[in-house]
Parts: sequence; C-alpha cells; structure tokens
Amino acid sequence: MRPAQALIDLAALRHNYQLARELSGGRALAVIKANAYGHGAVVCAEALSDADGFAVACIEEALELRAAGIRQPILLLEGFFTADELPLIEQHQLSTVVHSDWQVQAIEQASLSTPLQVWLKIDSGMHRVGVAPIEAAGLYQRLLASGRVGKVVLMTHFARADELDCPRTVEQHKVFLNAVAGLKAEVSLANSPSLLGWPQVRNDWGRAGIMLYGATPFSAPHAVAERLKPVMRLQSKIIAVRELPVGEPVGYAGRFVTARKTRVGVVAMGYADGYPRHAPDGTPVAVDGQRTRLIGRVSMDMLTVDLTDLPSAGVGSAVELWGTQVLASEVASLADSIPYQLFCNVRRAPLVYQN
Ligand SMILES: *Cc1c(COP(=O)(O)O)cnc(C)c1O
Repeated sequence: MRPAQALIDLAALRHNYQLARELSGGRALAVIKANAYGHGAVVCAEALSDADGFAVACIEEALELRAAGIRQPILLLEGFFTADELPLIEQHQLSTVVHSDWQVQAIEQASLSTPLQVWLKIDSGMHRVGVAPIEAAGLYQRLLASGRVGKVVLMTHFARADELDCPRTVEQHKVFLNAVAGLKAEVSLANSPSLLGWPQVRNDWGRAGIMLYGATPFSAPHAVAERLKPVMRLQSKIIAVRELPVGEPVGYAGRFVTARKTRVGVVAMGYADGYPRHAPDGTPVAVDGQRTRLIGRVSMDMLTVDLTDLPSAGVGSAVELWGTQVLASEVASLADSIPYQLFCNVRRAPLVYQN
C-alpha cells in the first residue's frame, strides 16, 4: 500500500483542548468545521467527549455529528442560510449564529415549540458578517421578545488577533463592549490567537480552532503557543533513491539543479495529498527523524528530497512532511500559506488515528 498517511494523535488533541479551556477562563467550543480542519470531524468530536460544545460552519456539518451520536451543544458559525433550516435546527437542538436582521425576522415568524439557542454576532470591525454595533441591543431585545429564543450569547470575531502588536483587537473589543453595554448575557470573543495572546479579552466561551490541532496562529515564537502539541503527522516513505552528478536538473521544469554530487530521495507524497505545490527548494522535510530539505518542484504524487548528508537513509526510510520534527507552520510560511489551509487540503492520504 502507498505509505502516505496523515497520522492523527488524539491525545494531543485532548491536551490542546484542555489548554484552550484553561485559557478561556470559562468554557470552550471546539471548532471542528471543515472536517475538523482536515483531521476528521466525527472522530475528533468523539475524542473530545468532555468538550463543552462544538462549532461547525453549517447545518450539513452539524447533522453529520448528530448522526454519529454527538450530543453536546453544536453551534452553526455561519448561522442559517434560509428560514427553512429552522425546523431542523430545532429538531437537532443546534445553536445558531444570527448575523443579519433578516434572520431575526425569520425567527420571529417561525413556528417553533422549543426555544432556540442564539449567538448574536456583532460586527466590531472585521466587516465580514455581524450586525452593526448600533443595532445590537435592539436586535437582542427583539430576539428575547420573540418568545422563540432561550439564551442569547453575544459574540464577535477579531480580524487581527494573530498580530500581537496591532491595536486593532483592543479597538474591536471596545466597540463590542460599547455595543453590548447593559445587556446581561454571556459573551464569546476569542478564537485561537485571542485565547493564546490576548488574556485581557474577557470571554465566557472561547472558540478554539487551529490551536486544537496544535499549530500556532502566530508568525513568531510565542511562549503559550509552545505548549501546543501537533496533532497531525503527514508522513510517507522514500520509494526510490538516485545519485546525481553536479549540474543535473531534478523534477518538472528543472527548478532545482544539483550544485554538488547529490543523493536524491523520492517520497510518495504530492500535491494531490495536500502537500503545497508552492513549497520552495529548502523547505524542511524530516527523514528518519533528521531534518533535510525539499529539492525540486512538488509533483502530484511525488516529491524529492536531498539525502546527501543522510548516508544511512534510503528506500523505506520514514519521512515526515509536517508533524513534530517539522512544524506545519514552518512549511506553511515557506509556501506562502497558513497551517489552516495546509490541514484543510489534506486528502487521498488516509487519516490514521492513534491514542
Ligand atoms: C473558524 C472560526 C473560529 C476558530 O478560529 P481559529 O483561529 O481557528 O481558532 C472562531 N470563531 C469563528 C467565528 C470562526 O469562524
């Protein structure tokens, strides 16, 4: 069998969730949208059996979890797209974000027999979704007065919390606090970078995504993020080795040309598995536990690495593309991407669970 696999360490996932909850100071939703950022939503939810709740993008993702027997609260982060989702939201006891006034009206007009759990999202400055700060209190009162809503949680989302010296998060926080002044409700503010880097942002419900999977959202080393444990190891094996003299091109377009006598290892891993095609020569790759470098363009099913300084490596040697020896965030930044996208793109290589 082809040796490419994404090994998923569920003990590391649980460790990272505990850290998220501790940093949240209250409760934490485990964000498992987009198939748990490529890690497998159902298995991750089952592994987090003591999580306070989960967050997904849409009802399709939530129903997959309910069908698998997941009973904790599940929040729909994008809310409902049409009013006809409301009966399903009620039936499966999902919580929904409300980010637009048409959704408030839809709830007012819905015939429901159990109260909905609503998270009212306020646009404090990201300018993607969310109600205007000035409308927040009025919509909050309308939701409560509708007779169709149980609890309303007030939430917002930060656009630049991963930039620790940027004042924008504090500005957004002020806008949010102003908008909700006087409203007695739980609040949810913090995504992973806020949980890790902005302890002054008070918050009843953290929303932890990327940190659950053990990747730092920051571009520089960060003491708290150091406590995260990588969950995914994208791994494969060397399937062929060749010795090339100086001046020989390797792979498509001859992007890499040997500058010395070079032992080239061919790895069964390519962009069809989700390894980024834009990874440049020099991107770290670990072979038998030692870091070496990618050489040549990544192809669909294979990539090539430099084994010249690893004389004992050969056919069958274990290769880690990212995991604990090479961090996904290192590969991402070299490939002009982010670990979020790398994880979401993993495909074909089967997910194999441990712990
Ligand atoms: C995806 C998402 C999160 C999680 O963000 P991370 O940076 O991965 O922690 C939190 N809140 C909302 C609204 C989201 O859409």
